[in-house]
Amino acid sequence: MVNHDLHPLARHIRSVPDFPKKGIVFRDITTLLQNAVAYREAIDVLSGRYAGMKIDKLAAIESRGFILGAAMAEKLKAGFVPIRKGGKLPGKTLREEFALEYGKDAIEIHLDSIRSGENVLLHDDVLATGGTAQAACRLIEKLGGRIVGIAFLAELDFLKGRSRLSAYDVFSVVHYETE
Ligand code: AMP
Repeated sequence: MVNHDLHPLARHIRSVPDFPKKGIVFRDITTLLQNAVAYREAIDVLSGRYAGMKIDKLAAIESRGFILGAAMAEKLKAGFVPIRKGGKLPGKTLREEFALEYGKDAIEIHLDSIRSGENVLLHDDVLATGGTAQAACRLIEKLGGRIVGIAFLAELDFLKGRSRLSAYDVFSVVHYETE
């Protein structure tokens, strides 16, 4: 079904049916990233919503979250904190396990990456079931971070991931109402 209310950036996101599994429509942001104008627009829209707010750290989820997240951190004059898949971070870490739309996973954060009381903006490319972002919020809050918002480029509204993040200010640029 065509959603006529899609943000103009949506036309730069490629939809790949049956990836990585049958039945999943993968929303591929690489087609947006390779377009200089769309890439810049995505960074501006995402970081613009938080302009003027005091954000100490931009935390982003591996790996697609790093691409726009790093650019957002620079715009917002915030430090960048990577949240990575299990076993990838070299320092002392905290770990959270969670269920994905397709499979199970664990994410980790460096213990020294966020200080208690710091304002943290969380970013990932796509909000699906919300399990990953929820686990990321638990990691940030265990370190004493204050989550000032969660920003996604795209949200799969029909999976209702937002309801798992109801304690937070959730913002998504592009909304897919149906698969
Ligand atoms: P979830 O925990 O279900 O919200 O899944 C979110 C993570 O999986 C994000 O890091 C997304 O990049 C990725 N993801 C899940 N479903 C999709 C999808 N249909 N298209 C693109 N990425 C997805």
